[in-house]
Amino acid sequence: MSNILVLGGTTEASALAASLAERKEAAVLSYAGRVANPRAQPIPVRIGGFGGIDGLAEYLRYNGVTHLIDATHPFASRMSANAVVAAARAGVAHIALTRPAWVAVEGDRWTRVPDIEAAVAALSGPARRVMLALGRMHVDAFGAQPQHEYLLRFVDAPEHVPGLPRHHLVVDRGPFDVEGDLALMDTRRIEMVVCKNAGGSGAQAKLHAARILRLPVIMIERPVLPARLEAHRVEDVLGWLAHRADRGV
Ligand code: NAP
Repeated sequence: MSNILVLGGTTEASALAASLAERKEAAVLSYAGRVANPRAQPIPVRIGGFGGIDGLAEYLRYNGVTHLIDATHPFASRMSANAVVAAARAGVAHIALTRPAWVAVEGDRWTRVPDIEAAVAALSGPARRVMLALGRMHVDAFGAQPQHEYLLRFVDAPEHVPGLPRHHLVVDRGPFDVEGDLALMDTRRIEMVVCKNAGGSGAQAKLHAARILRLPVIMIERPVLPARLEAHRVEDVLGWLAHRADRGV
């Protein structure tokens, strides 16, 4: 009998949770606890960090987890790296459900940078109106380029005022579409977009909008993760589970 732990915090994890519930699989969804009111889920939820690799390995053993599915965001690199090591240590089968990265197409004006620090450095120069599509954990770093007028869009209202002298904050958890993002960029007279290469459809609207408006995009590339088995679709994860169950593993 499978006993599944899903590391979540993404729409893909929620879609997987729905499929697991439909199949009456024994599964728990884990959240880091960053979002104030995470959406209701059809499987049991646990919230909060595990306490590093040791804590996660212990959780897997103590709870008799047989399958660990890492459906965290592609930029949740610490959690994903911990999952690889802890699963191996606890002898638990492991797979990542992850989105393919976005690829630039005709009309895109991307500058690729390796990390947040490089994105901040890329913004040196005269004042512009910049959409920072990054989430609240990373925006304060842009205080090092205080000349710009920043547009921020967060899932929740932040507890502290972002450390950017000139900004406008929109609280919206989406889903976003091209029309809405075009209207937002137009109203705020955005000249440049900064975002992470998250992949997936939900957050892609801003890139379509930037292409239509011919705006430059600073694209922060994904962190490098340890080698692991990856799937891009919920069906493929379900197939992996079924295959392993057939083999009794
Ligand atoms: P991170 O830097 O890789 O993780 C930091 C620590 O948070 C981990 O070491 C772990 O603590 C805890 N953690 C992360 N995800 C967890 C989960 N699903 N369940 C339990 N503990 C978790 O990750 P992050 O970038 O802060 O992301 C946190 C959460 O937000 C993830 O669930 C991710 O899917 C979601 N998210 C992230 C982004 C992003 O851009 N990074 C965007 C959208 C959603 P311990 O070491 O104590 O176990």
